Amino acid sequence: MVQDGVAFQPVRLTWLVEKKLAVWLWCEQCSHHKSLDSVPLLTRFGDLTLSDLRRKCRCSTCHSRNVFIRPDWHKSSWTRGVVSRHDILPD
Ligand SMILES: [Zn+2]
Repeated sequence: MVQDGVAFQPVRLTWLVEKKLAVWLWCEQCSHHKSLDSVPLLTRFGDLTLSDLRRKCRCSTCHSRNVFIRPDWHKSSWTRGVVSRHDILPD
């Protein structure tokens, strides 16, 4: 049985901006990935949830819409002692 009792609040761009978190995008098709600052995204798209934002995303390498999106915990200081830091890929 799936527990359905937990109230799930979708992550919104305003929340990410507030927490100073970037958005991490990963293409499931070609593994292209990048981290985007949440502030310009909020300015451009408004206060979307991540799932709404995901629908607007497309991979700049293979043009797939199969893009995975989540808060970029690693870039911020939420996780400490991260050894590998990916370079931000160009568009
Ligand atoms: Zn791709």
